[in-house]
Amino acid sequence: MLPSPFAFEKPTTITEAIAAVGEEGDGMFYSGGTELLLAMKMRVIHTERLVDIKALPGLDLIALNDANEIEVGARCTHKNIAANALIRQHVPALSSLCANVANVRVRSVGTVGGNLCFGEPHADPPTMLAALNARLMLQGPKGTRAVCADDFIRGELETVREPDELLTKIVFPRPTGPVTYRRFKHGERPSVNVAMAWSVDADSTIKAARVRVGAIGPRPQPLKAVEDVLLGCALADVRSAIEVVLDAALGELDVNQDRHGGADYKRHLAGVLLMRNVEEAVSRRDNLP
Ligand SMILES: Cc1cc2nc3c(=O)[nH]c(=O)nc-3n(C[C@H](O)[C@H](O)[C@H](O)COP(=O)(O)OP(=O)(O)OC[C@H]3O[C@@H](n4cnc5c(N)ncnc54)[C@H](O)[C@@H]3O)c2cc1C
Repeated sequence: MLPSPFAFEKPTTITEAIAAVGEEGDGMFYSGGTELLLAMKMRVIHTERLVDIKALPGLDLIALNDANEIEVGARCTHKNIAANALIRQHVPALSSLCANVANVRVRSVGTVGGNLCFGEPHADPPTMLAALNARLMLQGPKGTRAVCADDFIRGELETVREPDELLTKIVFPRPTGPVTYRRFKHGERPSVNVAMAWSVDADSTIKAARVRVGAIGPRPQPLKAVEDVLLGCALADVRSAIEVVLDAALGELDVNQDRHGGADYKRHLAGVLLMRNVEEAVSRRDNLP
């Protein structure tokens, strides 16, 4: 049962929604409600006011902008992202990720914005969006700001968003090379996941690479040593180059030991998932510039 009493508001503009939540954060944005209502029923979260953001215009759009970036509205459900033609064409790995989040009920109403703003570490989209070098657009009473996906989640269930800032959309450059994603899960949520995005020069060497490991710790983390060896590496040498630095890179990760497993086990899984991503990426046709 939901605790009572609390007010319920249905604003029709972003400005009204931000004002309704209030500077002190005594109200909360309500999107799909899949995390929020559970947490309220469990008495983990209490709020004076739920501010329903379903009627706000423009938050459910997916588009390619003039800067060749893909924009995904924060109110897009996992199901909508999975089915979207633009996402399927340019980032099939994101489409497939969203098609496999949670269960059909959660995918139908749960949104990418709610997923990011809740800051639950065992999540899929934050890792992928960090690998895609996404920025998250926040709108509050003082205006709009962009936060890198890498910096958005501060820790477990904690983000840099102010209580009265609305996440409006997620923006990332249209990928120009392979984007790959693997996850391992015991239950409903991922225990470890790895996302990778690279682009390749005309001479088949890697010119940019981002590798992120998620769910393993409080927030997605870069595998910096792996990214460093990938830069300038010929596609044919990628596997052997990574193997040299992999153990040290995995050793640097900040890992939570929890019911999903111990630290060594999770590091091992991250290494396996990374090498499977690499196998896929080297064989992909979108390595051609
Ligand atoms: C059974 C189950 C299984 C799951 N499995 C997975 C899984 O495998 N992988 C995975 O990644 N996730 C998983 N999830 C999490 C799921 O993805 C999220 O529950 C969902 O995306 C949250 O979106 P929502 O719209 O329902 O958010 P809500 O519950 O409405 O909101 C969540 C939080 O975000 C805030 N918020 C929401 N939207 C905004 C916004 N636009 N701006 C600012 N603040 C906002 C709310 O105030 C609240 O604090 C699972 C959840 C459940 C219940």
